[in-house]
This record gives sequence, C-alpha cells and structure tokens, in this order.
Amino acid sequence: AKEAGRNGYQFFMKEMNARVSRRMFLENNLRRALERNEMYLVYQPQIEASTGRVAGVEALVRWNHPEEGLIPPDRFIPVAEDCGLIEPLGAWVLHQACRQLQDWRDDGLDGLMMAINISPMQFRKPGFIDTVRSALNSSGVDPQRVELEITETLLMQPLNDLDSRLRELTAMGLTFALDDFGTGYSSLGYLKRLPISRIKLDKSFVADLPGDVEDEAVTRATLSMAKDLGLHCVAEGVETQAQRAFLTERGCDTLQGYLFARPMPEQECREWIRQYRY
Ligand code: C2E
Ligand code: CA
Ligand code: CA
Ligand code: CA
Repeated sequence: AKEAGRNGYQFFMKEMNARVSRRMFLENNLRRALERNEMYLVYQPQIEASTGRVAGVEALVRWNHPEEGLIPPDRFIPVAEDCGLIEPLGAWVLHQACRQLQDWRDDGLDGLMMAINISPMQFRKPGFIDTVRSALNSSGVDPQRVELEITETLLMQPLNDLDSRLRELTAMGLTFALDDFGTGYSSLGYLKRLPISRIKLDKSFVADLPGDVEDEAVTRATLSMAKDLGLHCVAEGVETQAQRAFLTERGCDTLQGYLFARPMPEQECREWIRQYRY
C-alpha cells in the first residue's frame, strides 16, 4: 500500500509538472504569436431562419503554431486571460474583424453583420471602450453592423459600471448578443435591464434536438422567453435538417452551424457567401 501510495504521488507530481510546463510553453509562445502573424480569424455564416439568407458571420480566432499546428481557442484563450495577453489579443481580433467587414463591403458584399467574441476579462479592462472605438474608426465600419458576443460570466460577477459601459457602447451604435445562453446560473433579470438584443442558445442544447425531452424543453422555454422580452434568438451548433426544422418552427430567428458552413478563412468565406443560394 505504501509503495502504491508513493507511486500515486509520483504520478501526480509528474502530471502536475507536465501541466505546468505545458502552460508555460503556451504562455511563452503566445507572447510571440501575434507579432509573428500566427493568429488569424475564420468566419462562420449566420443564416436567417425564415428566409435562408446570410445575415452575417461570427469571427473565431485560430492559432497556427509553427511546430504544434492548430491550437484551438478553448486551449489558449484561458491562458491569454491568465497571463495578461487577452487585452492585446482581443484588440487584434477587434481590429482584424472590423477591417474584414469593411473589406468585404468594399468588394460588394453588403449588409452583413460581424459578430465578435469578447472575453469577460477583456471587457473589464479600463481601455476596452477606447479599443473598440479605435477598431471602428480605423476600419471605417458602420458600428450598427458590429455585434459583440458577451457571456453570462461577465454579467454574473458584478461590475460597478457594467451598465454604463454597455450603454456607452450601445450609444456608439454597437449591439450585444449573450453567448452560451443557458449554461450559466444567473438570474434572467439582467436580460430586461441590460441593452442586449440577441441571445445565443448554446450548442449543447441543440445537439440532441429533436428528441431529447429536456433539451427540447430548454429550447422551447428560451425561445418563448426571448419572444416575450423582444429579443432575437440565435441557435449555434445546428448540424442537421431536423434541428433546423425544429428551431425554425419554434420561432428561432437565426441559425449557425456545420449544416450551413464551418468557420472558414476569409477568402473561402467571401466566395461561400457569394455563391450561397437558398
Ligand atoms: P463559441 O463562441 O461558443 O463558438 C462556437 C464554437 O462552436 C466554435 O468553436 C465553432 O467553431 C463551433 N461550431 C460552430 N458550428 C458548429 C457545429 O455545427 N457543431 C459543433 N459541434 N461545433 C460548432 P471554436 O472556433 O473552437 O471556438 C471555441 C470557443 O473559443 C468559442 O466558443 C469562444 O468562446 C472562444 N473564442 C473563439 N474565438 C474567440 C475570440 O476571438 N475571442 C474570444 N474571447 N474567444 C473566442
Ligand atoms: Ca460566440
Ligand atoms: Ca457556445
Ligand atoms: Ca464559449
């Protein structure tokens, strides 16, 4: 037993060391990634459910590491948040996405919305509003075309000036979507109080539609609440025609998922939007 205990401990230490050094590796490499152009954005179309037309895209960041290949954002965003790099990374995403939208517009792709993910930690930085203003100004995009995706986490940890910051950005013309809706545990009161125009039903609720009784109930409740509050609803992770039909029949406004398109690099996305017929 003693022997096993010691082995267990050694195993634990090995695991810990591996994890810590992995994290340090990511952190050190992340610092250089932006300067070395290892980051890029991909764009996933959002489809208006009632008409089938492309309403806009969501920008999603990718890191192409020179030795490791693609590292998913779920792995490096938390590291960036921990080591203070979320601010420059987030600013880069904002600038890049706004520039892209303007670029498409100049190329004749008009009327699209650009949804941009904002980490709670990024939103809380004192310089956030200035960063957004600078991205809007330097790209020349119409702020009404830009939607910031925030999460319930941001709203759950009280921030003195949360309301006023949301309102200041809203006054600039931007809109807000609440991402990963249904995965948090916060009260729904804020939905009425805050200037949020869309909620995004999390893909974990969409995955087993139709058929899963609980997910159907959550979806129905979310859609009817959204309607009562005058909010639009976006469903993410739509992969099948059956999911599309279920959501559309129950009044979901916008659909996003592999059924329509995967997130694509800008050229591919531009062509996809051009050629998409519904
Ligand atoms: P999210 O914002 O909830 O994004 C949805 C995720 O679902 C994306 O993963 C997307 O590629 C994936 N997805 C889209 N359609 C489908 C589908 O039909 N089926 C399935 N199974 N998945 C689908 P991705 O790109 O790996 O991003 C993961 C998360 O990383 C995002 O979740 C978001 O929280 C974060 N993230 C990505 N880009 C950014 C960014 O620029 N800034 C910040 N702060 N976070 C980002
Ligand atoms: Ca999102
Ligand atoms: Ca999500
Ligand atoms: Ca997420």
